Amino acid sequence: MRLIRLNRLSSLAFPQIRNLLGSGAVGGVALLICHLCSGCVLLYPAWKQLAPQARAELSSNIPHIALTQTEIAFAITLIGAVAGIVSHLFARGFGFRVSRLRVLLLTLGLIGLWTTRVIAQRPALLEDLLWRAGGIRAAAQVLIVERIGYRAIDLAIELLVALWLGAVLWRNRSRLRRTPVPIAAGLIVTLLIPLNPFRPHYRGVAKPVIVLAADSLRPDHFSSEGYFRSTTPNLDQLRKDAAWIPDFFSPIASTTASWASMLSGVYPHRHGVRDLFPRREESNLQLPTLPKILGAQGYQTVVVSDYAGEMFNRVRFGFDLIDAPPATSLEVFADREAFQRLPLAMALLTGSFGERLFPVGRYLPVNADPDLLADRVEAHLDRLASEGRPFLLVVFYSVTHLPFAAPMPDANAFTRPDYRGPSRYSYEIQQIGDISRLSARPSESEADQVRALYDGALRSFDRQVGRVVRRLEQIGLKREQRLLIITGDHGEGLFEPGVTTEHGKWFAGGEAANRTPLLIQGGGVSPGTKARLASGVDFFPTIADALQLPIPDGLDGVSLLREGDAERSVFAETALWLGGEASAPPGAIGYPPLVEILEVELDSHALVLKRAYVEATVTAKLRAIRKGPWELIYTPTKQLPRWQLFNLRDDPFAERELSNEYSETFRSLRSELIEWLTRDPLRWLDANDRLISRTEQ
Ligand SMILES: [Zn+2]
Repeated sequence: MRLIRLNRLSSLAFPQIRNLLGSGAVGGVALLICHLCSGCVLLYPAWKQLAPQARAELSSNIPHIALTQTEIAFAITLIGAVAGIVSHLFARGFGFRVSRLRVLLLTLGLIGLWTTRVIAQRPALLEDLLWRAGGIRAAAQVLIVERIGYRAIDLAIELLVALWLGAVLWRNRSRLRRTPVPIAAGLIVTLLIPLNPFRPHYRGVAKPVIVLAADSLRPDHFSSEGYFRSTTPNLDQLRKDAAWIPDFFSPIASTTASWASMLSGVYPHRHGVRDLFPRREESNLQLPTLPKILGAQGYQTVVVSDYAGEMFNRVRFGFDLIDAPPATSLEVFADREAFQRLPLAMALLTGSFGERLFPVGRYLPVNADPDLLADRVEAHLDRLASEGRPFLLVVFYSVTHLPFAAPMPDANAFTRPDYRGPSRYSYEIQQIGDISRLSARPSESEADQVRALYDGALRSFDRQVGRVVRRLEQIGLKREQRLLIITGDHGEGLFEPGVTTEHGKWFAGGEAANRTPLLIQGGGVSPGTKARLASGVDFFPTIADALQLPIPDGLDGVSLLREGDAERSVFAETALWLGGEASAPPGAIGYPPLVEILEVELDSHALVLKRAYVEATVTAKLRAIRKGPWELIYTPTKQLPRWQLFNLRDDPFAERELSNEYSETFRSLRSELIEWLTRDPLRWLDANDRLISRTEQ
């Protein structure tokens, strides 16, 4: 009897399963063909545009590139197959006869709807193909992003699913009457899943430390600093009962080296990481660092980041867990450059799920959606809370870094609706080939647009700070049970007089590129503004002090929670000029462009500075001393060095040179800066204050 029933079931089910799989095949093949065609059309011109040297380097990686491309094509085929099956079920649910043509059209419709949804929420992803292409494509993007909007698309998708569900239930109403209880129970469970009443609570004794940092964070663009746009409602709220250090001067406005100084408490010439491409011997920090000393106290130390955080996998800071992109290697470079030119990969594989399959999505500058990062942060927080050990969680957001590609609704929160230039949703200069154009100053209206994009990115970071703080409260970490820190690795030039957006290149334009904020809240830290000049090297000792841990001897930084010297001097140096001689600051010593001064390190495969250029790049660095309102800048040139003195309080953009008028201040700062320069183990000063190799003297 049972056998007969099974037979009847299988005879019914097999043709249906076969049809379903057939629809999956139709969807998969259709999407694969779309992917291959668009890939050929877009990848080949990009390949042709590459410099011959870059093309030769990439050619040596053909097996890797071929494997990645096969994996992407396979994933897209699978997505097409799933869309085909969904299309089949969709048609069946509404009672339509299923044909191949119908499945094909429905599959393309579904993928089109999903792609439209992605464009509507993260408009920078396909901006090159839409807005920057002009004409009807640009108009279509504006229509999708600004007129329709992702919320309306979400609503349409939800409505469609509800209609389908309604149709299925209606068509199966006779069966429904026979089994109402299991179906009702299933529906209730589905609705309750997002509520999750089982969120873990932190029960540890020691205070966890949560650092929410954003790349290129500028305090003067915070609403609480009197900025004219409402950029930071959540940060302003936190500031009310936090210590606020608005003049946190980065010792080097370049991500990797700045983090090395923040986490080790010493200036770059002491930790040895002096640019974005340190070699293995510099990356193995042989110094006490914040993660190391907290680890020794039983803390679990975790860092989470998107694309700007690649250096957490490059420099050994001592974190237990690093959830960040791999260090930039030739393979990573090839993956990134190819991936961002594949429209279907960008649309279908850059969300939370896609990023898990293809982490390359996480290191695309146009895909620094802080919401995606916050998803990972919440998962880490839940896990860390449930484990009960104290923890240090460093989160480093890239959205505020060039190309300032915020998702909606922040991408156009502050921009002009009638803007017609190339940077509607993200600053156009974002590809590796654009480096040489970074130094060109755009028109004033373009500069205004870029500033508005930056402000939108800042609002987007602020939104995620609010989200993470809410999650901290949910897991039982209220203000006094935690130490919450908000900071940046440096500031950013936003076309102040004489500068572009090249942080780390110079000290022109005032403090924009080096100044970033530090906010410390909770754990017994007394609130209020600490107006004195601070340095990135103070980060490590200040957090150690807030946790009442001993501060290691010999650091350059001091705890900002203690009474400090109002006349303290802080120092800084510049990083690499990325575009070669042409991008060196005026009068400074140049060297060849990146493609010539970098090489692939043998075992790590990371792109590193060639040994032959370490000398030249360190010698060419500009240095600065800040003290009170004063800044003195040292520029090595091919002849004698140039010294420039500015009063940043009266002259915020450093336009009036004062060394003759204030010769005493000049002399005193110069001797302090020279004394600091001579501590550089790689450099020495000759009789004319020219930096030379120590072996040359
Ligand atoms: Zn940075």
